[in-house]
Amino acid sequence: MASIAIDGPAGAGKSTIAKRVAKELDYIYVDTGALYRAIAYYLVNNQVDIEDEKALTAACEKITIGIQYENDAQQVILNGENVTPFLRTEETGNMASKSSAKAPVRAALLDLQRNIAKEYDVVMDGRDIGTNVLPNAEVKIYLTASSKERANRRYKELIEKGEKADFDKIEADIIERDERDMNRAIAPLKQAEDAVLVDSSDMGIEKVVNTILAIVKDKIK
Ligand code: C5P
Repeated sequence: MASIAIDGPAGAGKSTIAKRVAKELDYIYVDTGALYRAIAYYLVNNQVDIEDEKALTAACEKITIGIQYENDAQQVILNGENVTPFLRTEETGNMASKSSAKAPVRAALLDLQRNIAKEYDVVMDGRDIGTNVLPNAEVKIYLTASSKERANRRYKELIEKGEKADFDKIEADIIERDERDMNRAIAPLKQAEDAVLVDSSDMGIEKVVNTILAIVKDKIK
């Protein structure tokens, strides 16, 4: 089985790009952020204090997470319930950004991610896939873009959806999430030594996909 790890900060376009790359290669796409969001969803719903280590460990022991696919779209099953529609809210994202730094949360997801990669050819995106989850991945990409550009993309996305958006707040939020992801003690976000850096600040989706496919071709096929 071959694995392609795509890591990088929030809003770098990882999921859009990883989905496209997976489709081109006929691999499965695994969005690991959704797994952290599913745990966060559980923690919010059950009012678990994430600073209380005992309570957090006990909560994580009660959580069973799995994934399945519906028309190529990843579905996250939390304790038997498909929670996918609830994962992309601000509240869940904020909690995920904080709870993902905690050891019991990271431990709860490690084997699941590794087992999926053992069974399937995967394009897996996240923060620590190349450094920690799949250190032997055949291809590692570190996909990033400037915080201005990432905030700009998010701003446009919200405006297109007809939602309210405040550019400065979006950028501040992105910078705060980067800080948390990069400075946590366990599995921080960083470029793996053997990862290829792709800075998409001045690149369109097509160009990023083609750049990554060329890297894959070079390393795998
Ligand atoms: O990528 P997404 O925004 O959905 O991820 C939600 C949160 O989960 C991120 O803010 C990040 O802190 C965390 N995460 C992580 N490791 C991963 C994927 C996501 O810590 N492999």
